[in-house]
Amino acid sequence: MENNIKGKVVVITGASSGIGEATARMLAAKRAKVVLGARRADRLEALTAQIKEEGGEAVWLVTDIKRRDDLIQLAGLAAQTFGKLDVLINNAGISHLSRIDDLQVEDWEEMIDVNLKGYLYGIATAMPYFKKQGFGHIVNILSTSGIKIVPLQGVYAGTKNAIRTISEALRQESNGGYRVTGISPGFVRTEFIDGMKNQEMRTIFKEKMEQIAISPEDIANAVIYAVGQPDNVDVGDIVIRPVVQD
Ligand code: NDP
Repeated sequence: MENNIKGKVVVITGASSGIGEATARMLAAKRAKVVLGARRADRLEALTAQIKEEGGEAVWLVTDIKRRDDLIQLAGLAAQTFGKLDVLINNAGISHLSRIDDLQVEDWEEMIDVNLKGYLYGIATAMPYFKKQGFGHIVNILSTSGIKIVPLQGVYAGTKNAIRTISEALRQESNGGYRVTGISPGFVRTEFIDGMKNQEMRTIFKEKMEQIAISPEDIANAVIYAVGQPDNVDVGDIVIRPVVQD
């Protein structure tokens, strides 16, 4: 399995912390060439240096996935540096949780811009490379919020499920040309809750994180599994939760 990761050029959004960072480290350790995007330059720079110190190959670029052009530049960096684009991991995401009748419309728009439009920009960026090469792999980090639908997570879950739906069409349209994987994590111990605006939800989630969350490496393992499969094997959906998550 390791052979099908070695040498692959993998673009990862949201690589500056959490699941993206863990995935970058793990892929680089298996000799993938990783191309790291996020907004925090200091984090990306430090991670790239560590990967290189450990003998891996990595480059980085400040990337805001709300801007399509940033993703185009990131994929361009992958192609210029390493000559191709094997995998795009759409991972950068945000969550603002609230009741729908609280009408936090600006928060909805931000989630749509990042979790939905940002992922679509990722797909739009990768697709020309995949078509030209005749191969490629999109990995979308989704959420169990879209599987067990609960109050206060409606719009967030909706953004994740929009990508789930769109990706199923993409898989069928690919007609064997490229692979599409969706990975839905449950509670994972990352910086994710730090960005939540709703203080009450933040406190609830913080407690849950401390009590039951699994590690970002548990999710990275699933990415490794999907990316490392033989070229004719398409891993569709993987759901990974803490055993005690309801
Ligand atoms: P983190 O907050 O640790 O990581 C999120 C990453 O996304 C950061 O690297 C952040 O970097 C980046 N990011 C946020 N907004 C943007 C943007 N506009 N452009 C580029 N990068 C951005 O959380 P996780 O690792 O947990 O989150 C990763 C994914 O996992 C998300 O899609 C999330 O929805 C999903 N997920 C997480 C769960 C959890 O319990 N942690 C559960 C289910 C799904 P920077 O600020 O430097 O840009």
